[in-house]
Amino acid sequence: MRSVRKTFGDSVVLRDVDLEVAPHTVTALIGASGSGKSTLLRCANLLEEIDDGAIWLDDEEITHPRADQDAVRRRIGVVFQAYNLFPHMTVLDNITLAPRRVHGVSRTDAEARAHELLERLGLGGRAGEYPDRLSGGQQQRVAIVRALAARPRLLLLDEITAALDPELVGEVLAVVRDLKADGMTMVLATHEMGFARDVADQVCFLDSGVVLERGTAEQIFGDPRHERTQRFLRRIV
Ligand code: ATP
Ligand code: MG
Repeated sequence: MRSVRKTFGDSVVLRDVDLEVAPHTVTALIGASGSGKSTLLRCANLLEEIDDGAIWLDDEEITHPRADQDAVRRRIGVVFQAYNLFPHMTVLDNITLAPRRVHGVSRTDAEARAHELLERLGLGGRAGEYPDRLSGGQQQRVAIVRALAARPRLLLLDEITAALDPELVGEVLAVVRDLKADGMTMVLATHEMGFARDVADQVCFLDSGVVLERGTAEQIFGDPRHERTQRFLRRIV
């Protein structure tokens, strides 16, 4: 992202945001509620239109007016806090719907991919279940499988453990660690500082829509430069 600016009416929610994410790395966005983490992720996935600046994915400027938005979204997977699974569809149908209907993948290929991912995320045998028969942690893992089904280049994760009971948080975070080990590029917004410190290569501290500080997890958590970052971390950790 270069000089990204996003406003809602009179309020500037992202100002002059520069962010570079290297392939196969994990970036954690931290900051107080309302600092702009979700908005940044939504802009990156073109769910929100930016007012100024530009965003690239690989060598393509995805915010260019002529960019193919559907193709871009296929290359960027997203998982939100509330898993948003369709309750009237089985796990398998939830996962294969977009690949089959939107991306033109055959049923056989879509289902093979779904079964492979379910197995990998510890959900083998759950394909025929309806979401309400699964725990919150299992539902969130299904949402991650659904995001991975299209083989995205980049995965955006917005507070994916925030709606979970504490004892279910660990299993979802373990999935993120596994994906990192596999080389998946991820940007995640989180209030779990221990997790950010553990998994992130790069940490960005957002303050009122500004990336106030950016560095390695070691730098940001061990030796934050900015007084506001220090105050935020003192309050939270
Ligand atoms: P949290 O940690 O609570 O999830 P956040 O860092 O994700 O917070 P955002 O959701 O990005 O924060 O919100 C940033 C600011 O933008 C807030 O002031 C919010 O009220 C505002 N905002 C977000 N979405 C909209 C919208 N659709 N219309 C108007 N204002 C919005
Ligand atoms: Mg948010």
